Formats: sequence, structure tokens, C-alpha cells
Amino acid sequence: MRLFQKHFCVVAISLSAISPGNAQLLVEPTLHIKSEAGSGRVALTLDACGGKTDTRILSALVENEIPATIFVTGIWLKHNAAAIEIMRAHPELFELENHGGRHIPAVDTPQKIYGIRSAGSPEAVLAEVESGAAALAVTGEPVPKWFRGATAEYSSSAIAMIRKLGFKIAGFSVNGDGGSLLGAKETARRIAAAKDGDVIIAHINQPTHAAGEGVVQGLLELKAKGLTFVRLDDADGVGDEGTTD
Ligand SMILES: [Zn+2]
Repeated sequence: MRLFQKHFCVVAISLSAISPGNAQLLVEPTLHIKSEAGSGRVALTLDACGGKTDTRILSALVENEIPATIFVTGIWLKHNAAAIEIMRAHPELFELENHGGRHIPAVDTPQKIYGIRSAGSPEAVLAEVESGAAALAVTGEPVPKWFRGATAEYSSSAIAMIRKLGFKIAGFSVNGDGGSLLGAKETARRIAAAKDGDVIIAHINQPTHAAGEGVVQGLLELKAKGLTFVRLDDADGVGDEGTTD
């Protein structure tokens, strides 16, 4: 028992040593779309954080006429002109929304989330959201209505600020690809398991990762089962943590 207490004490001390004093508890909001009669419908959301385009996914969406909401950053928009052209040529399939200017987590206190440094102040959160919207405006796309921050984690105060700017915040209910780090099989299994009302998150910016192959497989399985796909703008999205109301 004493050994346990001593051990516990050491753990407690080391935890307090690595947590910055002002770190906030973060929230990872969920999002669902309202169910509709029939064989069910899901919303596919794909993040384009930076880097390149996974053309396996993009081509499969076009060939199989699967609509998707793509969350793009200013960084990604700069380097993926060919992909943007394809998306803009299919306005019936692709809705482009705001994933921030520089892919910086929308957390207004300094801390790291999955190794990424947070915006760190209210001003920096606003700059991230507004620069993402400005980068999208240059492409000629409709004004974005949804925002999803890098890492999809937020401080509650950042959520309130982003809502005041007029954006709904896009959580999710099915983590399809585990940050694009999962294998093809597990990614396909998770996506194929989506049910009526689910909002799937995966990535479209990692063409060298195995997960992308799984995204395509999972989507084709859902389609074969008769589920339909909707974009966030075409569905009533209901999120928790004050993200949509
Ligand atoms: Zn991202």
C-alpha cells in the first residue's frame, strides 16, 4: 500500500510538472445529421489539412457520385490547384468548408494537442478562422458556413468565439481513419459500420497512407448497402458542446 501511495505521488508530481498551469480542458464535439426515412443517410467529411491530394479518394468520389464536405486549409489551397479544379467542376458533389488558415488548433490558451501547438490566444484563434475563410473566398467558392479546427479539439471559449463569427463547428460521430494513421482494413471496417445519421471524418491529403485505400473501400460498401450521402449544407447537423445551436 505504501509503495502504491509513493508511486501515485510520483505520478501526480510528474503530471503537474508537464502540464502548463493555464491548460484548459479540451472538448471534441460530436455531430450527427437528422435521420430520414429510407435506408439511411450519412455525411462524409474529409479534411485537407495540408500536403497533397489523395487522388484515389477524389477519383472514387467523382466516379461513384458520392457527395462530400471537404474541410480545406489555406496551406492546402495554395498547393493543390488541380484538385480544387476537379472539386469546382462538380459543385453537385463537393462542398468546401473552413479548416483554418494555417492548421492551428482553435484553443485560446498555449498548449500542445497531438504535438501541434495551439493558437494560444483569442486573437490567434480568430486569425486562424478568418484567414481560412479568406483563403476560400479567393477560390470563388460560396462563403463557408462550417468550421473545423486542426485536431478537431477546442477550448469552450474558442467554440463560443467561432460561433460569434457565424460559423457552425463540425464535430463528427465516426472517426474513419484515425488521423489517416490506421491501416486500410481497419479504416474500411470503421467507415462501412457507419449508420443512419452519422458524420464520418477522414482525410483526403495523405496519398501515401494505406488509410486512403480503406476510405474508398468503406464508402463503396456503404453505397452498396443503400445508404445515401449528404453534404453538411444539405442536412440538419446537430452537434453538442454548443457547436451548432
Ligand atoms: Zn486537419
